[in-house]
Amino acid sequence: MTLRLNRRHFLAGSAGLLALHPFSLHAAANQAHLRIMETTDLHVHVFPYDYYADKPRDTIGLARTAAIIQNIRAEATNALLLDNGDFLQGNPMGDYIAYERGMKEGDMHPVIAAMNTLGFNASTLGNHEFNYGLDFLMKSLAGAAFPVVSANVVKEMGSDPTKDTTLLKPYVMLDHTVTDGAGESHPIKIGLIGFVPPQIMNWDRRHLEGKVQTRDILQAARAYVPQMKEAGADIIIALSHSGIGAADETDMMENASVPLAAVDGIDAILTGHSHLVFPSGTYADYAGVDAEAGTIHGKPATMGGFWGSHMGLIDLMLERDGGTWRIASHAAEARPISKRNEDRSVTALVDSVPAVLASVQQEHDETLAYVRRAVGKTDANLHSYFALVADDPSVQVVSNAQIWYITQMMKGTEHEGLPILSAAAPFKAGGRGGPEYYTDVPKGDVAIKNVSDLYLYPNTVRAVRVTGAQVKDWLERSAGMFNQVQPDVADQPLLNDSFPSYNFDVMDGVTYQIDLSQPSKFDPKGVLLNEGANRIVNLNFNGEPIDPNAEFIIATNNYRASGGGDFPGAKGDTIVFEGPDTNRDVIVRYIVDKGTISPRADANWRFAPLGGASVLFSTGPKAADYVDDVKGVVMEAAGDGADGFAQFRITL
Ligand code: MN
Ligand code: MG
Repeated sequence: MTLRLNRRHFLAGSAGLLALHPFSLHAAANQAHLRIMETTDLHVHVFPYDYYADKPRDTIGLARTAAIIQNIRAEATNALLLDNGDFLQGNPMGDYIAYERGMKEGDMHPVIAAMNTLGFNASTLGNHEFNYGLDFLMKSLAGAAFPVVSANVVKEMGSDPTKDTTLLKPYVMLDHTVTDGAGESHPIKIGLIGFVPPQIMNWDRRHLEGKVQTRDILQAARAYVPQMKEAGADIIIALSHSGIGAADETDMMENASVPLAAVDGIDAILTGHSHLVFPSGTYADYAGVDAEAGTIHGKPATMGGFWGSHMGLIDLMLERDGGTWRIASHAAEARPISKRNEDRSVTALVDSVPAVLASVQQEHDETLAYVRRAVGKTDANLHSYFALVADDPSVQVVSNAQIWYITQMMKGTEHEGLPILSAAAPFKAGGRGGPEYYTDVPKGDVAIKNVSDLYLYPNTVRAVRVTGAQVKDWLERSAGMFNQVQPDVADQPLLNDSFPSYNFDVMDGVTYQIDLSQPSKFDPKGVLLNEGANRIVNLNFNGEPIDPNAEFIIATNNYRASGGGDFPGAKGDTIVFEGPDTNRDVIVRYIVDKGTISPRADANWRFAPLGGASVLFSTGPKAADYVDDVKGVVMEAAGDGADGFAQFRITL
């Protein structure tokens, strides 16, 4: 075996020498080491910056992933850089370009500019590429210095997928040159084919209906892969903007990467869409998946997190086999840009690459100005000081936006026409966060950065289909927020400190009272405590007692719908809609769409009267400014609480 090293193979850095990867070191004369690098679900995150919070963040940003990409290129003789989709939407920079600056003919989209700077070899489309419509997408892609492939988005259906007129090229064959272990160059044909969840037709119906259609991922793969082989592909890599999910194939499946990996002719698979990491323990129990070896059906696979958090990496040791190349061995990993320490603080593992930052510096600055200026108005104060004791505008605005969105999404489905309720909880409500940890957006202008105040977590929207009985038990579960209260006793502590406010779901679309004299039906973890307890009384829909057998749609988030908090009716088996959009994005769209929002708390829930008993609770001292706004509750200031909180008294 000859081993040739040149200067390019070693980088002297402060951390010492970066050596060649073992595959490159050991490649023989008939072997070549090829590294396939994946970014996925970038969602316009180039700067390590959280535009909602308006502060730097070390866990995100292609400029950071770029440092890993540069290291990999330095370690390997041959490397390909591929993106797996969802690059165009998902942070305020994306919204700024789409809603404010626009994409005129010839304009460069900043995330494309950053990708061009890094020299991507190819990309595929994710579902979010369609969020701003086809015209916006095509103008954005026009700036890409790399091919973008997608095999299952179709402008005109043919008799089989290979006869379709697809929106983009279904696949490309890269004529690449690889250097073998002896330093000799050889041509190689690398086939790249891309797939997107066919559900884009539901998620972006308003943009896509009548313009494109989608095919089943596996159907498209089985049609095109043999064609690619015939056209001389030495190896084929699937760019699957689809999650690692069930091994059993179903029609039009959203997360199809496991059966896709089994398709004959596909040699390696890049996955994404789920915003998770592969290989990792997350996938330990998945059929067909080896989460340690980093394989699906024995083929190397990766998923590079989201927002640039990781770079997915597949190492292939290729071997000349007659006139073609075959994979002699492989490895897969996902390299993070940061690590979380035991005290939950975050340490960056790499520095930003200046050239990548520079490529979007102007749009970064414009986005900062955009998130700091008004995009709409609110004619109500949006604060959460009383969110745990009365219907509240900061929770109401979330429900208003969720109902607005889910109503659109239910159109044309079998669930259209069912009443749509919304569940939302106050996330910033004091507690361990301290006396300043409340939402407080005063009446007047609303800026994008305020939306992170209204919705703290990057959850995505879900809808569940439940019965009236489940609606009631959902609220019984929420009502564990409160201690049991004795009638006629003064100044009893109201809030159960072991109950987190994010599990206090307020339901919009029904009216109800909470009878605090009853014990809680569930404990703070959701375990049934008192079978016969009924804290939720006078639960009405449309002014009539709710029918326990009637059916409802509840708009909520992925956390709750998939069992977070263990709520009745929300254990993962009632989900009828999985939105790709974050609740935060939905609120932004709602505000942009409405211009002025009027999130009137309408006192649709309140405490049941209790013969003059009184309770005390603590909130932020700024609550005093708003105490007169609160409806449906008799309340007065009751002096200072502990640790900087203010106390209020409610008479029941
Ligand atoms: Mn995504
Ligand atoms: Mg309400």
